[in-house]
Amino acid sequence: MSEYILVCVAWPYANSQIHVGNLTGSTLPADIFARYHRLRGNHVAMVSGSDAHGTPVAVRADADGTTPLKVYESYHATFLELYQKLGLTFDLFSSTHTENHFKVSQDIFLALHANNYLYSERQKQWYAASQGRFLPDRYVEGTCYICGYPNARGDQCDGCGSLLDATQIIDPRSKIDGSTPELRETEHFYLDLGALEPAIAEFLRQREGYFRPNVLRQSLGQIQTEGLRGRAITRDLDWGIPVPVEGWQGKCLYVWFEAVIGYLSASIELAQLKGQPDDWHNWWYNPDARTYYFIGKDNIPFHAVIWPGQLIGAGEAFGRLFDGREGTCLTLPYDIPANEFMNLEGRKISGSRNWAVWGLDFLERYDPDPLRYYLTANMPESKDTDWDWEDFVRRNNDELVATWGNLANRVLPFAYKHWEGHVPEPGDLRPEDQEVIATVEAGFQSVGEHLEAVRLRAALNEALRLAGEVNKYQDKTAPWFEIKSDKAAAAKSIYTALRAIDSLKVLFAPFIPFSSERLHTYLGYDTPLFGSQYTGTAQDSLGEHSVLRYQPGKVEFQWRPSQLAAGQALNPPAPLFRKLEPSVAAEERARLG
Ligand SMILES: [Zn+2]
Repeated sequence: MSEYILVCVAWPYANSQIHVGNLTGSTLPADIFARYHRLRGNHVAMVSGSDAHGTPVAVRADADGTTPLKVYESYHATFLELYQKLGLTFDLFSSTHTENHFKVSQDIFLALHANNYLYSERQKQWYAASQGRFLPDRYVEGTCYICGYPNARGDQCDGCGSLLDATQIIDPRSKIDGSTPELRETEHFYLDLGALEPAIAEFLRQREGYFRPNVLRQSLGQIQTEGLRGRAITRDLDWGIPVPVEGWQGKCLYVWFEAVIGYLSASIELAQLKGQPDDWHNWWYNPDARTYYFIGKDNIPFHAVIWPGQLIGAGEAFGRLFDGREGTCLTLPYDIPANEFMNLEGRKISGSRNWAVWGLDFLERYDPDPLRYYLTANMPESKDTDWDWEDFVRRNNDELVATWGNLANRVLPFAYKHWEGHVPEPGDLRPEDQEVIATVEAGFQSVGEHLEAVRLRAALNEALRLAGEVNKYQDKTAPWFEIKSDKAAAAKSIYTALRAIDSLKVLFAPFIPFSSERLHTYLGYDTPLFGSQYTGTAQDSLGEHSVLRYQPGKVEFQWRPSQLAAGQALNPPAPLFRKLEPSVAAEERARLG
């Protein structure tokens, strides 16, 4: 029976390009997971968009002498280009700057208000006299009052991971110009996390058995040690979503409050674009749907504590306000498989110092699959990892080319040449043939279990191990010798290898879809494994915004062993991957910094 799987991907902030750390942290794992579930025939919606609002975009616009809208649009366009080139199959990649997102966010706000989970309070906030405006928390830096880390951001400390009260930060300074801000009074709405704490803690305890340790530490662990207090959810800022309450003109919903609502609003926009406006109910009003949030570790508190709090607090009131539905609550996160960080050549990635491997720049010189492969093999699932150019070249050459690529490259051209472009007729298979087929076919269970549990590195390793088993089989049967004396024996060996490769192609497909699709064609299939990506535009009262979409291919159960038919016509094969010169590592290092 097919399931409803919602794949939510962290919303990239539209004031910077995307680097490999962003990709391996959230976007790529989400795509692998989404592709796997599509191969299983499940109903997948993978959604995200550009986080268009907030002070970082406004600050960037000031610095560049342009408008926040133009800043967001220019970065948004580069996101669409990168995601399409890298095969990141968003069913919808939209933006927070849409009429739909405004309405959904305001309705979540009003639902929380109706349920008494909001209160207003006059508060002190850092004001930059040098700029004539209030500073958002993340633009104040100073010493963490919990752990003493000297470079804590006002909203969160990278030293201890705690969410901070910015007004308590020690020795504050403006991140924009280094000036010392002063505290001034303003009025804001607060989300009453204290009142929501029992329900949030219960939500987390129900997931204690499978949430990653880093996620539990920064959610349930924090609640048990410190408890939750109200958090301001509005800001003195004009670039963003207006607070939908009379008398609050000139204030906006805080970006962290509204950006997480994007998972819901993008699902709703997707349904509208499909012409099935209620389609999003299948994920959001369905207690059996599973929703996964792919994020980096810096986003854990927002997704594991605050977002569940928003959903619980909005309760049935959201449906009543938004589309007149009674008695249904929105689906809470099923899993939040947050990743740690990827460093670069032993140092923390820094966009501003150009210490980064940028996605679009990389793809000017290399194919997408080697990047996807390396970022999965090196994914920071349980601890920080390091992008190392020598390691990239080594894994490309030793694993992708030598183990998997060469297997296909030895067998397909050989079959194509000696059996006139057809899969050979094997007759009865020998025990060793049956054994290697069974070994590879067990991968649908073993690789699948790792993928289900979002252990993507382990899943890829297992697929690679199985390719190695087929290589051993090939070395043992040596069909290039067999064919000289016994073509019937060679036919058994080549048929067996083709069938194993046909299965491995599916096991590798979520990770390296471009090469799997090509292999699929070489093997003579005419319907692709996956659907296709395309860009489009959508129009609303805020103007036009561009979107990335995914047109599903055949929706059927494809996560199953090969049923390759003897006699099937093959297409002319070509190598799947390129070997890289060892000098590549030194050349690439010279480009850094
Ligand atoms: Zn700290």
